[in-house]
Amino acid sequence: MAPVKVSKICCIGAGYVGGPTCAVIALKCPHIRVTIVDLNQARIDAWNSPEFKLPIYEPGLEEVVRQARGRNLFFSTDVDKGIQEADLIFVSVNTPTKKSGVGAGFSADLTYVESATRRIAAVATSSKIVVEKSTVPCRTAESMRTILEANSKPGTRFDILSNPEFLAEGTAIADLLRPDRVLIGSLQTTEGKNACESLAEVYANWVPRDRILTVGLWSSELSKLAANAMLAQRISSVNALSAICEATGANIEEVAHAIGYDSRIGPKFLRASVGFGGSCFQKDILNLVYLSESLHLPQVAAYWRQVVEMNEYQKSRFSKTVVDTLFNTITGKHIAVLGFAFKADTGDTRESAAISLIRDFLSERAYVTIYDPKVEESQIWLDLAEACPTMTLETIKKQVNIVHSALEACKQKEAVVIATEWKEFKEIDWETVYTQMTKPAFVFDGRLILDAEKLRKIGFTVKVIGRGDRL
Ligand code: NAD
Repeated sequence: MAPVKVSKICCIGAGYVGGPTCAVIALKCPHIRVTIVDLNQARIDAWNSPEFKLPIYEPGLEEVVRQARGRNLFFSTDVDKGIQEADLIFVSVNTPTKKSGVGAGFSADLTYVESATRRIAAVATSSKIVVEKSTVPCRTAESMRTILEANSKPGTRFDILSNPEFLAEGTAIADLLRPDRVLIGSLQTTEGKNACESLAEVYANWVPRDRILTVGLWSSELSKLAANAMLAQRISSVNALSAICEATGANIEEVAHAIGYDSRIGPKFLRASVGFGGSCFQKDILNLVYLSESLHLPQVAAYWRQVVEMNEYQKSRFSKTVVDTLFNTITGKHIAVLGFAFKADTGDTRESAAISLIRDFLSERAYVTIYDPKVEESQIWLDLAEACPTMTLETIKKQVNIVHSALEACKQKEAVVIATEWKEFKEIDWETVYTQMTKPAFVFDGRLILDAEKLRKIGFTVKVIGRGDRL
């Protein structure tokens, strides 16, 4: 039996991964019809919006969708039709950390993966290659295969693959167009290898063959968790060093530069910050912690847990620096927070460090003014309401103001906090900001993007992550 030639793809889940990934597949494979389906009508409407007001912001995404939509790229809420027509189906649904029940706070909530899998089994009338795109615990593909096989109709078969996504939000399109690697895991049977080749042929339309890695299913699943854990560990390591820098007078940028010259370490991903955010790092490490505990490996679990604990410490350490510097109290003081997204070039706020900082400031009864160039106001209220369960939205709104420019945010404030590394914050007219702020005027750079010396010359008191005041 030869590998199936894929001509119709369905992607279940039109989110940050499913949307951009399958839009790029459609762009690069005009001979393949790609349908992205989702239960969320508002999301699908946004993907289909005539003005291209897409539900997520990613540099370059709109151009890709403009080229492919209506040609061979379609967005729909008709999940069943999408499944039935496709010969290859990506499952790209959310896998958040479980909020309650067994493993709450650690293990992945696989409800959405299971329901998508059951839907495939229920409505498929022909054989399918089912591709696990979501990030899942090791051996989830086995559960999916069991569900699919137990429900398959006579004459239909399901081959299951793991194809984790390594894109980073903010650079998703560039990452998808020129990936470091594409990883495909399959069962090491003839059928499994054939299915793997079918998917590899899709990617080979634009990805060099030597960048398409084929491995076993379980290695593929674990590699995704491992990659995120290693990346987050690197950030926590450099953040741990930033605390030592602040206490000693060393400079974390100089230290990172020096250690990054070692070719075994390398220069990337050594930037200290107020802490990592995003929907993946924390969730995937906690998943690894849970997996390690389930496998009776408590020391391994403790090792990875520390990466997350260090991140929490970094965020609260930064809040404490703000309070300490503002003469040990911020009650009744006015603070501008620049940036709400978890990183620049995305409108995604999931696990954003800005949320932790603002929660801390509100609990100290400070007034906070927020500006972010891409995050919707409604999203900010949702996030703050969730982060501050002891406060009503009404009380939050008495302490928080959302504005539409950085200059406006900083006016008449005691302090400005940089929470996201948006490029435009580097280009603010700081002289004007200074004249409009309450004195003494403080700037807290949680992202290492400002020229601290220049700001000091203007008159600001400046605190920078990883830079000690001792000379
Ligand atoms: P998301 O929440 O943005 O999108 C998931 C979508 O799936 C939602 O729109 C939801 O409505 C839809 N959905 C859920 N169940 C469904 C069902 N049964 N039928 C149809 N649609 C359904 O999530 P995301 O950020 O795209 O992440 C998806 C997966 O990819 C997660 O496992 C995540 O860990 C992983 N991942 C995310 C990133 C990232 O940067 N966001 C990167 C790599 C991997």
